[in-house]
Amino acid sequence: MSSKSVASQAPSASAPGPTAAPAAGSTGSPAPGAAAGPTAAPRRQKSFLETVQNSIVVSDGAMGTMLYARGIFLNRCFDELNLSNAALVSDIHRQYLDAGAEVLTTNTFGANRFKLQPYGLEEKVREINRAGAELARAIAGERAWVGGSVGPTGGQLRPLGPLDHEEVVEAFKVQIRGLIEGGVDLIILETFHALPEMGAAIRAARSVSQLPVVASFSFERNALTNVGVAPEEAASFAEAEGADVIGVNCSTGPNDVLEVVERMAKVTKKPIAAQPNAGLPREVQNRLIFLATPEYVASYARRFIRAGASMVGGCCGTTPEHIKEIRIFARQLVPMKAAQRTIEVIDKQPESRYQPKRPEEKTVFGSKLGKKFVISVEIDPPKGTDPAKALEERACSTTRASTPSTSPTARAPRRA
Ligand SMILES: [Zn+2]
Repeated sequence: MSSKSVASQAPSASAPGPTAAPAAGSTGSPAPGAAAGPTAAPRRQKSFLETVQNSIVVSDGAMGTMLYARGIFLNRCFDELNLSNAALVSDIHRQYLDAGAEVLTTNTFGANRFKLQPYGLEEKVREINRAGAELARAIAGERAWVGGSVGPTGGQLRPLGPLDHEEVVEAFKVQIRGLIEGGVDLIILETFHALPEMGAAIRAARSVSQLPVVASFSFERNALTNVGVAPEEAASFAEAEGADVIGVNCSTGPNDVLEVVERMAKVTKKPIAAQPNAGLPREVQNRLIFLATPEYVASYARRFIRAGASMVGGCCGTTPEHIKEIRIFARQLVPMKAAQRTIEVIDKQPESRYQPKRPEEKTVFGSKLGKKFVISVEIDPPKGTDPAKALEERACSTTRASTPSTSPTARAPRRA
C-alpha cells in the first residue's frame, strides 16, 4: 500500500467514478442521503437493497468498544446486555442515529449458541437476538434500517476444524430467526474469515428469509483473512453463494481496507460495504485505545466510495463522532455505478517486469562468492562521508593478519 498522505490522494473533481453530488437547488438528482439527517425523512420507506445499489448508505460504528468505553468489562457477555441493560444498548443506538447512521446494527455479533455457551446462555439464543433487534428497531423507527449482526462461531468447520456444516447452518438459523422476529431489515454477516463458515451463514440466512444479506470479511495486514483467503476469492465466493452486498469490516484499519475494496471491486458488480476499525488498538494503562481520528477515518470513507464501495461505516474503535464525519464526506458523493467498474478476469499472476540481478552481477565480492576463498570483515563507520581511506586501511590490515579468524565476519583490528 502507498504511504502517501491522505490529502494528496483525495479524489479530484475530474476523477472517474463517483462524482460530486449536485449542489442544492441544482436541477440534477438530489445529493444521496441529503434528505436523511437526524430529523430526516424516513429511510426505511425505501428498499435497502435498491438504495445501496444506487446511492451511498452510511451505517453505524462499533457497538462492542462503545460498551467497553461505558465500563462493561471484556469478560462480560456483551450480547446478553440486550436483556439485562437494554437502556445502555439503546443509548448507543440513539447516538449513532443522531450522528446520521442510516443502518443501525444489532448488538448480537456473538449471539450464536457456540459463543453464548461459555456464559451458560446457549438456551437464550433466540431471546437475546430478538431483544437485540427490538432495541435497534425501537430507536431506528422508520428513520433507519436495522441490520441484524451475525458473527462467526469462533470455531472452524470441516475440513479446517471439527464443526459440522449442518450443525453450523442450524445454529445460524436459530440466531437469524430471532433477529427477524425482532424486526430487522437486513442481515449483516460480519468479520468472517473462512469461506465454509460464510457459506453456512449465507445458506442459513437464505433458508429462513428473503431479507438482503451483507457478507463481510475481516482481513489481516497482508490483505488475507486469518485463514489465508484473498479479497478476490472472498468476494467471488460470497457472490456465488447469493450475498447481495459484499463487504470488508474490522481488519487492520482504513488504509488496509482500501486495498481490499479496490481488489473486491475488480471481481464483483455487487454493492461493496467498507466498515474498518479505527486502526489497531493500543493498550494504554490497561485500556484499549483506538487512535484513528474521525477525520482520518472519514477521509478514507471517501476513498472507499471512490474505489467502488457504496455502504460505509465503522467497526471496532469507531464512535458516533466517526460516523458524523463519514456522513459529511459521504453526502458529497454518489457511488460508482457497478456498470462503471471494470471487472478483471485474473487467470494468472502477470510476470514481473523486474528481473532481480544475480549476486555475481551486483558486486565484485559477489562475483567471487563460490569461486574463491573470500574474507568478509565488519568495520566501524569512519568519520566523514568518504569511506575509501578506511576501507583501504582495513583491507591492508586484514591481508597482514597472520592468523585468520574462524568467524566468517571477523571484525578488523581497530586502529587507535
Ligand atoms: Zn471490529
